[in-house]
Amino acid sequence: MKIIRYLDSNHQVHHGIEKDGRSFRAKGDLYAGLSATDEAADVAKLLAPLVPAQILCIGLNYRHHAEETGAKMPEHPILFVKGVSALQNPGDPIQIPTRAASEQVDYECELAVVIGRPCKNATRENALDHVLGYTCANDVSARDWQIQWGGGQWCRGKFFDTFAPLGPCLVTPEDLPDPNQLKIATILNGERVQDWNTDDMIFDVPALIEFLSASTTLVPGTVILTGTPQGVGMAAKPPSWLKPGDTVSVEIEGIGELTNPVEMEP
Ligand code: ZN
Repeated sequence: MKIIRYLDSNHQVHHGIEKDGRSFRAKGDLYAGLSATDEAADVAKLLAPLVPAQILCIGLNYRHHAEETGAKMPEHPILFVKGVSALQNPGDPIQIPTRAASEQVDYECELAVVIGRPCKNATRENALDHVLGYTCANDVSARDWQIQWGGGQWCRGKFFDTFAPLGPCLVTPEDLPDPNQLKIATILNGERVQDWNTDDMIFDVPALIEFLSASTTLVPGTVILTGTPQGVGMAAKPPSWLKPGDTVSVEIEGIGELTNPVEMEP
């Protein structure tokens, strides 16, 4: 099942369900269960498919990306967080920060895993039972704030408004049974700058849920960003940074394409 969230022409927020290429307004609750009505979805504007309860992120989780940064392979998953205030909708702009000015804003295509029911001390075997669905994420990163001015941790450079675009839809596990066999790409101004597969993750999705839920409750609405493959702008020679007027898309097999323009923070 593909689930969307949208504003209708009366500015009301709804979920919708896509069936046979058409979208229908959904009834029910995202976590308790949605079902399609027979009313066509009046989509005036597509929104991120959920408002996350929290956004947990994993760094350096693809072998070839860890190599391109020169970092050593992590022995445990590297956890950092993004604020829920960083959420951005499909089609809305990624804003290059001006007050906390950055000249090194970068893209990262990532598979986002959405937890659907409370999850604590999951095992590898039952980890995926807690997953509500999957969507595309762009882990937008201000590398200067992440690496030079972040006080030794990455949150500052990852936390700015608009730095967590999610979408375009949430795909439930029956339509995406193996999250670690998916093509994943970033398209920047028409050029495929990242083009890889989630099978290169050092810690796969069950391992991440087992790790993150250890002694820790993952509440429904927890979004896990699972890391990015090689090809980030920071590793290009010379480095290439996002600039106003760019268009950046994250594309994941079986989910779709999350596209955002880039502009300066007004
Ligand atoms: Zn990332």
